[in-house]
Amino acid sequence: MNADPLEIQKFSELAHRWWDPTSEFRPLHEINPLRLEWINARAPLAGKNVIDIGCGGGILAESMAKKGAKVTGIDLSEKALKVADLHSLESGVQVRYQLIAAEDMAAQEAGQYDVVTCMEMLEHVPDPAAIVKAAATLVKPGGQVFFSTLNRNPKAYLFAIVGAEYLLRMLPKGTHDYAKFITPAELSQYVREAGLQVEALKGLGYNPLTKVYSLNHDTSVNYMVACSRPL
Ligand code: SAH
Repeated sequence: MNADPLEIQKFSELAHRWWDPTSEFRPLHEINPLRLEWINARAPLAGKNVIDIGCGGGILAESMAKKGAKVTGIDLSEKALKVADLHSLESGVQVRYQLIAAEDMAAQEAGQYDVVTCMEMLEHVPDPAAIVKAAATLVKPGGQVFFSTLNRNPKAYLFAIVGAEYLLRMLPKGTHDYAKFITPAELSQYVREAGLQVEALKGLGYNPLTKVYSLNHDTSVNYMVACSRPL
């Protein structure tokens, strides 16, 4: 299976803190409004059928449901999905969560989604190109797919690993493996090979002095890609 058991275990061990905005998941809470607005501006979510691959505890999934989308969230961490389900009960924001691999979901529900999202997940899987292919299979012709991941270059190493894990201690040590980071050129190639078109790239920056995240044109560390499936 296209999953690293140690990666899944890592997220499962922290899962009970997923919705604590001061926890290890703080960065996800803080970037969520930015990525949500970017997605919603490019693919208005109200009334859309959406699948979130590697949804974890459901931060993005719930926020898309709040925008009026019908959201399915899939992940391979049972604990994360339990937390996601409990949070959804508590918040009253309905999301359908399922423990299933992206490739298996693609075989079951090909072409059923207007929008596919897969955020901060590709850098944790052995074969990211296969996840991109599954996302391309899940989306309808004319639909849109969004990815985010970490770029691979000295600056990304300095910011995402040395800065975030060692100096600022925003993330537990070992959260990210530099070798698994993906350049925009590599991700764009996976996207094209899967039959999708790259529509836009967006950088996601963090200012350690102000502790504020922002969207910009700097894709050198954390970045998002918007893609479309041709009709
Ligand atoms: N996408 C969410 C969570 C990111 S954390 C967000 O951005 O808010 C990364 C998630 O990917 C974790 O929940 C982890 O369990 C999941 N994951 C890692 N490898 C996976 C795989 N092979 N298949 C599905 N999910 C995976």
